[in-house]
Amino acid sequence: VKDSGRNGYRFFDSSMSHGVQRKLLMDSRLRKALNNNELELHYQPIVELASGKIIAVEALMRWHDAELGFVSPTEFIPLAERTGVINQLGEQALRQACINAQAWQSIAPISVAVNFSSVQFRQCEPLLMKIERILSSTGLDPKRLDIEVTESLLISESGELRQTLQQLQALGPQLSIDDFGTGYSALSYLQRFSFNKLKIDRSFLQHMEHNEPDQALVKAILAMAAALDLKVVAEGIEAQWQADFLTKHQCQFGQGYLYSKPLPAEEFEALLRQQTPL
Ligand code: C2E
Ligand code: CA
Ligand code: CA
Ligand code: CA
Repeated sequence: VKDSGRNGYRFFDSSMSHGVQRKLLMDSRLRKALNNNELELHYQPIVELASGKIIAVEALMRWHDAELGFVSPTEFIPLAERTGVINQLGEQALRQACINAQAWQSIAPISVAVNFSSVQFRQCEPLLMKIERILSSTGLDPKRLDIEVTESLLISESGELRQTLQQLQALGPQLSIDDFGTGYSALSYLQRFSFNKLKIDRSFLQHMEHNEPDQALVKAILAMAAALDLKVVAEGIEAQWQADFLTKHQCQFGQGYLYSKPLPAEEFEALLRQQTPL
């Protein structure tokens, strides 16, 4: 503190927490990576639980930075949301996912699920136009696109949002609620929005084995989804007993390490070819 006059700038630097410094660096590296198209999608199969057949695939963003190394999306997505670069990131993800999914249609008629941030829906009109433009330029059948949103989108439930989601579905894409049950949102939104699918969050399946309340919760979600005519995808299936429990209670679809991790596009394509007889 004695030297703080002379080394004032150093004092300032070291008072910045390591976390803040990392975020500043990450922000500038992420912008650069986006401009150089350095982010890459990996693809995780979504299977029909009864047959194990791949019916869809989820696109998940991956970023390896020369300086920072591998950065998890759980770190760079929230950062991109705060700075606004999520709009650019989301557009790149959608375009790349549609290009790949369109190419895979010649192997099998699978859907592609793309994650959308609530932040992207702050500009409803431009977002709709972008999605429409990307669908038509890539040639992917719009019905083959699943748009995944989280309950956080529905907190500030505006008329404009409801209209946008309707218009989106009118273009062809399906709407899924991601991480279902983790968003502290009132269930009444299920009546006001017409979702096609819900994804049961991994946390519900994790401790289910010897846990009656968790099992009851998963069963209740499945019963509710059936009553509302929603398809269900269970996330984070790692063990056979989880798959067995889910199948027994009429959950149709799932994804998780038991079937496959997210894979680079070429590896996913090879897997898809492997299961599809010529
Ligand atoms: P999410 O959408 O819930 O994606 C599922 C996450 O669970 C992925 O993590 C996936 O790798 C992981 N996972 C899948 N199966 C298993 C399993 O059996 N066990 C375990 N432990 N994990 C499993 P990932 O790829 O790290 O992505 C984290 C989150 O980052 C995603 O959660 C999503 O919210 C966000 N994200 C990723 N890519 C994008 C993107 O392009 N746009 C947006 N807006 N968000 C993205
Ligand atoms: Ca997702
Ligand atoms: Ca999820
Ligand atoms: Ca999640």
